[in-house]
Amino acid sequence: MLKIHTEATVIGHAECLVIGGGVIGSSIAYHVAREGRSTIMLERMMPGEGASGAAVGMLAAESEEFADPEFEQFARTSRDAFPELVRELERLSGVSVEFRTEGFVTPFRSEAEGEKRWKAANTREDNQPEWWDAGELARRIPGIDRQAIGAIYRSKETQLFPVQLCRAYTGAATVLGATIGSGTHAEQLVVQNGRVCGVVTDSGFVSCNQVIIAGGLESMNLLEQVGFYYPLYPVKGEAVAVSLKDHPLEYTIYADDVYLVPKQKNELWIGATSLPHHDDTEVTVAGLEGLLARASAWLPRVREASFVRTWAGLRPQAAAGRPFIGAVPGVEGVYAAVGHYRNGVLLSDATGRAMAALLKGADAAELGISKISSARIKEESL
Ligand SMILES: Cc1cc2nc3c(=O)[nH]c(=O)nc-3n(C[C@H](O)[C@H](O)[C@H](O)COP(=O)(O)OP(=O)(O)OC[C@H]3O[C@@H](n4cnc5c(N)ncnc54)[C@H](O)[C@@H]3O)c2cc1C
Repeated sequence: MLKIHTEATVIGHAECLVIGGGVIGSSIAYHVAREGRSTIMLERMMPGEGASGAAVGMLAAESEEFADPEFEQFARTSRDAFPELVRELERLSGVSVEFRTEGFVTPFRSEAEGEKRWKAANTREDNQPEWWDAGELARRIPGIDRQAIGAIYRSKETQLFPVQLCRAYTGAATVLGATIGSGTHAEQLVVQNGRVCGVVTDSGFVSCNQVIIAGGLESMNLLEQVGFYYPLYPVKGEAVAVSLKDHPLEYTIYADDVYLVPKQKNELWIGATSLPHHDDTEVTVAGLEGLLARASAWLPRVREASFVRTWAGLRPQAAAGRPFIGAVPGVEGVYAAVGHYRNGVLLSDATGRAMAALLKGADAAELGISKISSARIKEESL
């Protein structure tokens, strides 16, 4: 059994130690603190400065595709919890997450495309999409491409400001008694007699009974320290913000080739490219050109908008094709929540809730996460 001793100075103790302050780690810290358990979250930068800071913030449980019905339900449950969650986080933290509930519109340019999208939108009884004809679409979204002959409208899809969500999760966690250690790098898990007993950081040793690895793409190193090989790889995404000064967009346009997401101060966030195995966060001219061309094809007045800023981030994708949320086999007290790829913001609430329950001994099958939890995923990822 792996056994590591440390001579580092003890700087803190918590029952639960969360490593990583993206949307996933922040949500876990909040939900665990909410259970009344002593919690420390370590983030080597500031909360939300990793992939979460690059996200556009769509909670697209119906519009996105998921590997299987269990995972789809997990996403649905997470999205549906947000109205109540947002109220609670904003009340506790005083941070606005700029939650928007106008819904998502998927336009199409041919009957065949529309029929295909309508079929895809009606795979579950609780979806209740609306079919908008060309007239309805033009009335709802003035200036939409004239070649668009209709759209599918999903009223339950929502969106928010991801960095603010991280701040709200961590702010609320702090109010509930958690300690947020920003600027602290977790370097080495410490295991004694087959059980985790703490983590060596660049500031000293933090002792704990349970550790939750939620370090996004950088989680692999920590997982490998306890013999768990769970491959993750980056999928780079570029995005751009413009300002539609005179006629702000009300709905999110979720087309098959681009999305246009309205934010406060008349900003419109346009995303995103998808470049597997690219590990830099530079924005290329080609990436930007493609996004703006596709966005202005759907909404021609994007050409008159003023440029605000552009950015890129690395989505943490798992080779297994779905996240891992569960107990790490082989060492008592080590858990992980990694590989949320392009839906970490959406999945953050359900992940935090599930992890808080797992830490208290709940069964993954009863939580409805058997496929994204321990044993089976381990076999698939090896
Ligand atoms: C352009 C773009 C658009 C996106 N849009 C959406 C969207 O609309 N909706 C959606 O749901 N998702 C979206 N995503 C995906 C989303 O950003 C990710 O799924 C999510 O951010 C993953 O969160 P995370 O907490 O796992 O990782 P991260 O946000 O990367 O957080 C991990 C954190 O852990 C810290 N860390 C790592 N190792 C250590 C250590 N050893 N010690 C201390 N700290 C450590 C890192 O500094 C980092 O801050 C988008 C992504 C991109 C790039």
